[in-house]
Amino acid sequence: MAPGGGGMYRDVVESRTALADYGIAPTETDSRNPPSRKSPAVVGGKPGVHELLECPVCGSVMYPPIHQCSSGHTICFNCKTKVHNICPICHQELGNIRCMALEKVAELLELPCRYHFLGCQDIFPYQSRLRHEQNCRFRPYNCPYAGAECSVTGDIRFLVSHLKDDHNVDMHDGSTFNHRYVKSNPQEVENATWMLTVFNCFGHQFCLHFEAFNIGMAPVYMAFLRFMGDDHEAKRFSYSLEVSGGGRKMQWHGVPRSIRDSHKTVRDSLDGLIIQRKLALFFSGGDGQELKLKIAGRIWKEQL
Ligand SMILES: [Zn+2]
Ligand SMILES: [Zn+2]
Ligand SMILES: [Zn+2]
Ligand SMILES: [Zn+2]
Repeated sequence: MAPGGGGMYRDVVESRTALADYGIAPTETDSRNPPSRKSPAVVGGKPGVHELLECPVCGSVMYPPIHQCSSGHTICFNCKTKVHNICPICHQELGNIRCMALEKVAELLELPCRYHFLGCQDIFPYQSRLRHEQNCRFRPYNCPYAGAECSVTGDIRFLVSHLKDDHNVDMHDGSTFNHRYVKSNPQEVENATWMLTVFNCFGHQFCLHFEAFNIGMAPVYMAFLRFMGDDHEAKRFSYSLEVSGGGRKMQWHGVPRSIRDSHKTVRDSLDGLIIQRKLALFFSGGDGQELKLKIAGRIWKEQL
C-alpha cells in the first residue's frame, strides 16, 4: 500500500466524472482499483461533506438511496424503515423524497474504510468502498457458535472469551484430542443437536463442531473443524478425524474452514467427517440403544 499515515483522509474530494449508476457495483476489482492517496484537494468549510453523509440515526455513511424529509433532513435507507418513516429531527412524515444532490456529491468522494478504527488504513472511492468493506481483512468476525442465532461480532481474541464466558464452550490446549460423544436416544436426530469445542494450538484457535442432522431422509452425524481467522491462514493447516469402535475405523483428512464461512455453509458443503447413523451404532458397540462415538483428532501445520 502507498505510504502515508492515517488521519489524512478528512474532507478529501477528488473530482471525477460520476455516473449516477446506483446499485451497480463498479466492475474493477479492488486490486485493479487500489486505494488512492494522491494529492487530494481539500474542501474547506464546515461541516465537511463527510459529516453531511453521516446518517443521524445509525451514524454510518449513507449510500443511495438517501432519503430526506420535506425540510431537508437526510436519513439512510435502512433507518428510514426503523424510524417508521418519521424524520428523527423534525418528526414530520418522511415520504419518499430522494436527496439526489447529496447522492451526486457523494459520488465524488473518497472515504476511509469503515474499519479504520480496527486498523484498516485504506481509502476508497465512494462506490467501491462498500465492496472493499465486505472483504476487508480488518472486518469483525461473526460469533462461530452455531446452536442459536448469536449476533455478536468482534476480533478473534474477543470472540474466544465470548465463547468461553457467554456460551460456556470447552477450551482445550494442544493439537490432539480424544472425544467421546454419548447420546442416550440415538433414534432422535434433531438439527439442533450439536457441540462445539475450541482448541488452542499453534498460536491460533480451532472450533470442532459435532452435530446430528438429516441428509435427505438419512440421519447422519458430522464432525468438522473451523479456523478462527481468515481463509488464507486456515489453508496453512490440516486436520484428521478418526472414529473407531466395534472393530471398525473411519478416517477423515481435511483442511479447516475459516469462520468467515458460516457454520451452515460448511455443514451444507459436507466438508467433514460424516457418519451415517446406522454405521454410528456399529461404532458404538452394544445393543444400539446408546450412541457412543469415540473421535480422535489431530491438527497440524503444513510445511510450505
Ligand atoms: Zn442510518
Ligand atoms: Zn426533518
Ligand atoms: Zn478496510
Ligand atoms: Zn456468540
